[in-house]
Amino acid sequence: MPRTHEDLRRLCLSLEGRGYKAYKSLQGVYAFPDFTLIIDHVQGDPFASPTRVRVQVPARVAAFPAELWEHPSRRVGAEHYLMEVFHQHIQPYRKPRGTGHSGQILMEPVGQAMIPRTAVRLGPHGVEARFVVGLPAAGRRILGRLAAQLLTQDLPQVVRASLFYQAVDPEAIARYAATAEDADFLRNRLEALGLVAFVADGSLLPRRSGVDDRPLETGIPFESPPSLRVEVHLPNAGVVTGMGIPQGVTLIVGGGFHGKSTLLRAIERGIYNHKPGDGRERVVAHPLTVKIRAEDGRSVVGVDISAFINNLPLGQETTWFTTENASGSTSQAANIMEALEMGARVLLIDEDTAATNFMIRDRRMQALIAKDKEPITPYIDRARQLFTERGVSTVLVLGGSGDYLDVADTVIAMEAYRPRDVTQQARDVAARFPTGRVQEAEGAVPLPARVPDPRSLHPGKGRKAVVVKAHGPHALQLGNRTVDLSAVAQLVETAQTRAIGLALVYAWERYMDGRRTLAEIWRLVERDLQTHGLEVLCRTPYPTGDLAAFRGLEWAAGLNRLRGIRMLKRG
Ligand code: ADP
Ligand code: MG
Repeated sequence: MPRTHEDLRRLCLSLEGRGYKAYKSLQGVYAFPDFTLIIDHVQGDPFASPTRVRVQVPARVAAFPAELWEHPSRRVGAEHYLMEVFHQHIQPYRKPRGTGHSGQILMEPVGQAMIPRTAVRLGPHGVEARFVVGLPAAGRRILGRLAAQLLTQDLPQVVRASLFYQAVDPEAIARYAATAEDADFLRNRLEALGLVAFVADGSLLPRRSGVDDRPLETGIPFESPPSLRVEVHLPNAGVVTGMGIPQGVTLIVGGGFHGKSTLLRAIERGIYNHKPGDGRERVVAHPLTVKIRAEDGRSVVGVDISAFINNLPLGQETTWFTTENASGSTSQAANIMEALEMGARVLLIDEDTAATNFMIRDRRMQALIAKDKEPITPYIDRARQLFTERGVSTVLVLGGSGDYLDVADTVIAMEAYRPRDVTQQARDVAARFPTGRVQEAEGAVPLPARVPDPRSLHPGKGRKAVVVKAHGPHALQLGNRTVDLSAVAQLVETAQTRAIGLALVYAWERYMDGRRTLAEIWRLVERDLQTHGLEVLCRTPYPTGDLAAFRGLEWAAGLNRLRGIRMLKRG
């Protein structure tokens, strides 16, 4: 027989005034009249990471209709909504009431993207929420009465207000589910429509600021040029129109400050579904779309960048390029090759964050500096080839170089945040003003296949065999090394970065054998994630609520930036 909520209350009261360690006796399972509370792990002191708890509401009590959880896309939308509601109700418990985390109820934050997460799980079993609670103390003395209040009164109130179908807004939760389903449907249609991305008419692309991902409500809604307009029939929203970006090479041009980067950034985030009201609910991109940028200073290990860079001074090898400190152009080349290694199908490049010498070498520079004195084969000479030989499309923001008009299939001009299809004019201009450039690419673009050396991962620190921590979305700690992910633009949440760290260790323990390639290892990890869910990554005997879904591309990006990692040649 599990203990009851009454037992929990008495136990808390009996701990009043005792040393903090006595809280350990709370660990266990408690039956409340309408749900189960599980205290999985009790914190060691008031300042330590708070106590991990779970709440399970059985299906007959939670009573969420099957249409909210049977379909995986819809389920993720509904779970996102429940997380938001839970957050609203724990608002009063954000501030500590006592020493350290005393009295806090905290759940992993939820952002604009509706991605699978472990904090709230909905299904045939009912609903399970995973979060943390700061057990209250004054100094190191237990505040037992406060603990009893928190766990047996406040918490049940939060649970009943946010995890029971009868308590939530049925229209709102249905809207989240429908929005997620439509976005997945739309993304799945792209390939058949010959598109790499779709931006619905009426979408709102600009964000409030660089650090605030919510929509800029005063922004000008998106309106597709008629020639690029595509109509799609969605399961919930019905007929939707918008701009389709075709496969191939697409150029986004236009004057400075006219919304080019904003459009590209919305496409980059189109790998995620966005919550209702975000403005990007129907902005979707091919799931293997990767934002590429220059990232000088990053470490690179064993990447074949010879398609873009060869004949480095002093005979440095570029078919197996390794450096602790890449330049703008070598880092951009490595980022592209690593993305291709993991199956990227669409590359997004913005002039604002690209290395100029990587993008273009014009006629005059070709005349001044002979090809054999210039290691770089600029992207302009590989963009078409990537598409024709590998089926990899490019969407490029470039206001400054008309040379690219020669290699573009589609040219979109942004004018005061409104796109125009200027493909025909661009062809006329290209015919009227030949650049006289000489095409510099030779040979095929090789596909990298590197084998990570498991002996170089070392996730331990001090006496701990494994340390994985995310310090925000863009800093991952693995053992005593910290990986800088600030250039990995499509990572949006700390919970993703944490999951990536755990998935690297998971891969290291199971599949990194010094023979399998990075892509092969990922396929095995991905299979496990699909079969068992993100929870398979938890290193605890119980599932935690602090993980979110991520792609193999970002997982590999983490390993690729880990300083000291070694790669073996496939042999
Ligand atoms: P570009 O890359 O062409 O120089 P940006 O995309 O950086 O331009 O946009 C310039 C500014 O305009 C940014 O502050 C952005 O938030 C704002 N902006 C972009 N799109 C819109 C829009 N549709 N409505 C209102 N403001 C926008
Ligand atoms: Mg820009």
